[in-house]
This record gives sequence, structure tokens and C-alpha cells, in this order.
Amino acid sequence: MEKERSFRDLIFPPRCQGCGSLSQGLCLACRSEWNLGRRLTYIGQIPIFSSLQYSSSIARILLASKEDGVKQADELVMEALIFSARQAFEKIGHTHFLVPIPSTARSGRRRGRNYMQDILEQMDQSQGIAGRNILFHTRKVRDQSSLDARARGENLVGALGIRSAGRRVPQTLPEVVLADDLLTTGSTMKEAIRTLESGGIRVLAGITAFVA
Ligand SMILES: [Zn+2]
Repeated sequence: MEKERSFRDLIFPPRCQGCGSLSQGLCLACRSEWNLGRRLTYIGQIPIFSSLQYSSSIARILLASKEDGVKQADELVMEALIFSARQAFEKIGHTHFLVPIPSTARSGRRRGRNYMQDILEQMDQSQGIAGRNILFHTRKVRDQSSLDARARGENLVGALGIRSAGRRVPQTLPEVVLADDLLTTGSTMKEAIRTLESGGIRVLAGITAFVA
């Protein structure tokens, strides 16, 4: 195993997930930007807890995790998300189910996983913070990255549904915390809150690893 690993490292030497320089894990410069701290945003009355300000090195880490499934990058995203979860649970009292913002069907296929759901499942194994994948996309949406805040909101109206649609929401799920990787305009979070609340589920808070 060790031999295999050093052989692989010779061909693909380990690089920093933040800047691509040769480094085992995050390099010193990127590590110094990795200052986990409480970063609070409100969507209406609902507090959204994030841990790190989005930057170019964080954008690379998120891309490596989300699009390339690099394990060390996944672990960094989880580290930030766990910090956010702790901040949220400290504020709202106790542990609640985390509901992942779902990937669109297309990006789910491309990545081979429903990104937030998979991240929460990995967190559940290490932290015992349970995720419930109850939101899904009811229809196709345009890629959000090219849209402004208003167009994003319009793009998403009615785009999410609750998986237990048709049946009553289980009694065990009256209150949840939403989870996503990155908070930008907040339009996705807003639509998820609207969808859950119209289904009788109260959203106590949101958590994201990063905030732009
Ligand atoms: Zn670096």
C-alpha cells in the first residue's frame, strides 16, 4: 500500500487544494486564510451560519470537492460545515435534522452523487449529525451562476418539492436546519425555506460552509 502510494505521489505529487502548489494538504498560505469563525446572515428572521468568507482559494477547494470529488477537499468542506453546525446548534438549543439543498438531476448525474446529501452522510458517520434528504427538484432550472439575484429567485420559484409529497410530513420532522455549501444571494435557501414552511416544516436556521 505504502509503496503504491509513494509511486502515485511521484507521478501525481500531492498539491494544495487551495492554490495547486506542491504541498501535503493545505499549504501555509492557504491554511492562514482558513480562519473558521461565526459568520451570520439573515434570510427574513432565519439565521444562516457560515464559517468562512469565500475567496479564490476556497473557490478552488469547493470546486475540487464538488466537481472532482477530491477526498481531502471534501474533508475541508466538512470541517467548515461542522463548525457552522456547531454554531447553529449552540444558538437554537439542540441538534436538529439537517436538510441538504438538493443538487439538480443534471449536476447529480455529472458528479455521480447528490453533493450536499453525500457530504451530510459523511458528516453523519463522523459527527452523528443526521441529514434527511427530503427536498428535491420538481423541474429543470437554469444554471444559477450566470443569473443575478432577481433572476435566480424567479428561476427557482416552485422548483423544489418535499419528498413526502402526497403524504403528511412525518411527525418526527417538525423543525429542521437547512444545509448548503455556499451562500451567495440566498435565493436557493429562500426557496427551500418557502417550500418547507408551506409543507408544515419549520426552518430554525441554515448552515453553509462558505459565504460570498
Ligand atoms: Zn495553497
